[in-house]
Amino acid sequence: MMSARIGYRFWYHHRNHQYLQVLRHNSFFKRVKNEMEAKNPFAPFDVGITENRPPDEVDIVVVGGGVIGSSVAYFLKTLVSTGMRVLVVDKDPTYTRSSSLLSLGGIHQQFSIPENIQMSLYSAHFLRNIKEKLMVDGIDPPDIHFNPQGHLFLATEEGAETLIDNCSIQSKFGAKSVLMSQTQLKKKFPWLNTDGIELGRYGIENEGWFDPGRLLQAFKRKAISMGVYYVHGEVTGFKVKHQAIAKEESYVPDYDTRIERVEITMPNSPEVITVPCAIVVNAAGPEAADLARLLYIGSGEGEMAVPLPVEPRKRFAFVINSLNGPGLECPVLVDPSGMCFRRDGLGGNFICSMEPGEEEEPSTGTLNVDYDWFNRKVLPSLTHRVPALKNAKMHHAWATFIDYNTVDQNPIVSRHPVIPNFFFANGLSGNALQHAPAIGRAMSELLVEGAFVNIDLAVFDFYRFVVEKQILERKVV
Ligand SMILES: Cc1cc2nc3c(=O)[nH]c(=O)nc-3n(C[C@H](O)[C@H](O)[C@H](O)COP(=O)(O)OP(=O)(O)OC[C@H]3O[C@@H](n4cnc5c(N)ncnc54)[C@H](O)[C@@H]3O)c2cc1C
Repeated sequence: MMSARIGYRFWYHHRNHQYLQVLRHNSFFKRVKNEMEAKNPFAPFDVGITENRPPDEVDIVVVGGGVIGSSVAYFLKTLVSTGMRVLVVDKDPTYTRSSSLLSLGGIHQQFSIPENIQMSLYSAHFLRNIKEKLMVDGIDPPDIHFNPQGHLFLATEEGAETLIDNCSIQSKFGAKSVLMSQTQLKKKFPWLNTDGIELGRYGIENEGWFDPGRLLQAFKRKAISMGVYYVHGEVTGFKVKHQAIAKEESYVPDYDTRIERVEITMPNSPEVITVPCAIVVNAAGPEAADLARLLYIGSGEGEMAVPLPVEPRKRFAFVINSLNGPGLECPVLVDPSGMCFRRDGLGGNFICSMEPGEEEEPSTGTLNVDYDWFNRKVLPSLTHRVPALKNAKMHHAWATFIDYNTVDQNPIVSRHPVIPNFFFANGLSGNALQHAPAIGRAMSELLVEGAFVNIDLAVFDFYRFVVEKQILERKVV
């Protein structure tokens, strides 16, 4: 009996000793790993998980830690630095499928809706000052590898009037660009085939492209340094409270529906952690509508019957190589066919992409690249406009999803009309990277101040879907 007890104590002590050793080693390695990763801009994105247990309760839960979720979290902390707990939950902290990491990184002001132009201008200003804004003590200031280069939108005779109209709206809001005739285009870009082109609009300030992963990394690191919690997990449910509120003028009560808790399914485990919170922000990108459906948005009565009109749409990026292509003086070219391309570095690589027509939307079952579509549609359009690229070789390609707003392809930055503590930062339809600073700022104002202050995005309210109104860009292509 005695020896059994001693044996047990020895085993217990030995097990604890081993456990403590592992713990000490882990925390040592974790610290070294974190320090190394913090200095390395190419570090894997799992650096951003603070502790993989959410706090017992928080004030705001942001679902989705891509560029939008991370920007919202950062701006919330700039508005309220202490006393407000912000939790960002992402089911894939490596972002292997997130468009935040896989986008082309372009920024321009060539929109027709004033709010979109203003968002681009705000973001350009933010990016210009990013080193100061997103600097974290002890780490080199962020460098997003910004390439200043104008976007060149081309218009046929049919689109020329829209291009001119859009241009005057853009100038009114402070965007700097020039209209270029066919002759001027030929002179400035001798490699460009201007057949069928009536006019071009070339951005001369605040335009270019940058490394999307570096922007995401910078937002995330800064947000964490300011006290935001990042947790690896999937939001799979909500606990909601319905409360009848008596109306003064009527005997029929109104119902107040509020989220009280989010349910987070932990990775590689059936464990579900429930976190009480006051506010939830939907920043789930292409999966935003799935998240909204967990709250029965789109399947109730009245305003609840209106779904969040967002779905994943697959987009491709093709990188080709040619030593005969345009040199440094190469804008981000947007062709009337929907094809766009830009230089990628200085080694003869060019990235191109194309907006498919409604009838040729690729299936979203997999992330396979459709090379046949490239050969049939993208390449002919590219080599027609830039004949020097006709012998270009395919280098590599990738596919990812955008969060496509099926009603009007414009952002939804808003509170839900029935569930007052559920907010949307969704439906950005392929422009969210450049608008991330502006959307983060506007959403945080809406949450903290109860209204937009600096950037008024009221036009992008969810209510437009209830009253069946569209906010449409006047597109040249
Ligand atoms: C080929 C291509 C080119 C592009 N080019 C440009 C460009 O030049 N300029 C530009 O401005 N934009 C561009 N975009 C668009 C831009 O990349 C996206 O709009 C932007 O990155 C979207 O960011 P996000 O944070 O909303 O979404 P995402 O990056 O998709 O992040 C959403 C996150 O939510 C997480 N998530 C989803 N559901 C849950 C859940 N239930 N629980 C927990 N986590 C969840 C996901 O894991 C994901 O990480 C491009 C997009 C593509 C595909």
